[in-house]
Amino acid sequence: MDVNCLSFRLFYRFRVLLLFIVCSLVVGWATSYYLWEFQKTKIVMEHFRKRIVAEQEKKTSAFMEAPAENSDLRVCPALSPYLIEGSRNLSFKMSLTLEEVEKSNPKVLKGHYRPSKCRPLQRVAILIPHRNREKHLLYLLDHLHPFLQRQQLDYAIYIIHQAGNTKFNRAKLLNIGYLETLKEEKWDCFIFHDVDLVPENDFNLYLCDNEPKHLVVGRNATGYRLRYSGYFGGVTAMTRDQFAKVNGFSNNYWGWGGEDDDLRERVMLNKMKVVRPSPEIARYTMIFHKRDDGNEVNGERMRLLRQVARVWKTDGLNSCSYKLLSVQHNPLYINITVNISVSSQSP
Ligand code: BGC
Repeated sequence: MDVNCLSFRLFYRFRVLLLFIVCSLVVGWATSYYLWEFQKTKIVMEHFRKRIVAEQEKKTSAFMEAPAENSDLRVCPALSPYLIEGSRNLSFKMSLTLEEVEKSNPKVLKGHYRPSKCRPLQRVAILIPHRNREKHLLYLLDHLHPFLQRQQLDYAIYIIHQAGNTKFNRAKLLNIGYLETLKEEKWDCFIFHDVDLVPENDFNLYLCDNEPKHLVVGRNATGYRLRYSGYFGGVTAMTRDQFAKVNGFSNNYWGWGGEDDDLRERVMLNKMKVVRPSPEIARYTMIFHKRDDGNEVNGERMRLLRQVARVWKTDGLNSCSYKLLSVQHNPLYINITVNISVSSQSP
């Protein structure tokens, strides 16, 4: 073998060796980078979880002296072990029936559920104003019941149904829900819930805080962004006392819009502030629909909003007149039907 040939072979081996070393270094670096990132995400998630638990423990401590029933049971953990991590893409089955939803929620009795293994510190009433949205209601019940049970809540779902054809009045229905449900039970926390919004993340806890809480930071229809900084619509949580302090909603918003902005004004006027969960958690799917007949945009809303400071003490829970038509205890919800056009300023 001549010298040239030998040096070529050596050079060739050297190049292969070099290539091998470079490849090993790249693979090694990529693997350690991936492991490090994975570890980092785990640490961040753990930190996040601990923070939620600590915050939740602090907030719920205000309710420590709450329910006397089942007092031999230990208090439920600040974060239920049944929560599913991450946000989900929700789907709605066209052919779903009420019987199917009833069958899959055997532990819900007359709209009410309470965990059997621990004692929640807050008792939560979910109030849903409603008229002619049966399909949306069905989809919401189908998702909400398992979601609330995974959160280990002591809760009931109330539908406040507006009878007749006068313009829809979401705010007044919610005032009625508050007043009527307190006749049944001493609820600690109220969730004011639109029928077409379905929560995507189990960590969006349906519990009240030290301040009024807005639960909808984003929804699919608007790119999961807060609509505007003062937005307080869709789903909100207020304690019994917080809601009483602001005299509830105004009764005078007929048709779509403004009543939620009015409530935020009341909250501000009473020196409270709105809190929200993080955007990754406070996510909702909005079930698509056209504007309903009888819920046209309220052209009066800007005028009404200008007078909140002057009228909030006399327009609200303390001036809410209505006629109670029926209260039905169905397996999955309690249906309160009311006529709200009695001696109010309905158009
Ligand atoms: C209305 C609110 C509504 C918001 C978002 C505002 O202009 O006054 O009632 O929630 O828009 O749609």
